[in-house]
Amino acid sequence: MHAHPDDESINNGATMAKYAAEGARVTLVTCTRGEEGEVIPPGLAHLAPDREDRLGPHRVGELDAAMRELGVTDHRFLGGPGRFRDSGMMGVPQNHREGAFWGTPVDIAAAHLVEVVREVRPQVLVTYDPDGGYGHPDHIQAHRVAVRAADLAADPSYAPGLGAPHTIAKIYWNRVPRSAAEEGFAALRAATGTVFPGVAALEDVPGVVDDELVTTEIDGTPYADRKTAAMCAHATQITVRDGFFALSNNLGQPLFTREWYQLARGASGAPAGERETDLFAGVAA
Ligand SMILES: [Zn+2]
Repeated sequence: MHAHPDDESINNGATMAKYAAEGARVTLVTCTRGEEGEVIPPGLAHLAPDREDRLGPHRVGELDAAMRELGVTDHRFLGGPGRFRDSGMMGVPQNHREGAFWGTPVDIAAAHLVEVVREVRPQVLVTYDPDGGYGHPDHIQAHRVAVRAADLAADPSYAPGLGAPHTIAKIYWNRVPRSAAEEGFAALRAATGTVFPGVAALEDVPGVVDDELVTTEIDGTPYADRKTAAMCAHATQITVRDGFFALSNNLGQPLFTREWYQLARGASGAPAGERETDLFAGVAA
């Protein structure tokens, strides 16, 4: 469950590619088309919301290309493409626009996800922490909607017309252990000739927490090329160079090929004191 096209490839690209390759069913639900995003390539600047406002449909195509790179065939927009409009950062007027995801009551948005959950019947749900990783309104709202939908989907008295109740066994939040973020930035600073005019701040990386809060680590190294290709498919949003990437601010960040999670609901499948290495650990077949 993600807020905008590109978040899934940055946060979970290797995880999604791994599970898709292993034959697990992977469903991506994206809440908005990312209409308010910045546009990196000068040749596409005309798509921007203050010009032609055609960035949303363009990013649908980028997401489609990214999912082909990851081998994920089931990807959907919450309520259908364009049902909810991208908000801006906290406090901007776009957040009050009609149809803005941030301005939508949680239960209205959650009903659309309940329908997906009851159809797909996932064992595991991945979303953001309650702060959305870094405070972006759409990311906070995606968290709220995902958690609410998980509760409603399991409730037999809620909307029987949306399908049979289903309880999701495990819910995870995207995380990055602080030590891994620090190592990544150290590698970026040490890389000669790399590549971007500046370096992002550690606080710019969503979901960074103290290491001991991270319960689960997926080694996506074998899928690093797939993740990189998926990120490159989001060309209006992301530039990838030499194993690092930048958003529209052109500040370099680590491109993680290990991906980390905090188990927020359900039982860990790892021995006490150890990190899980599989999101499905301990889940009955
Ligand atoms: Zn986002």
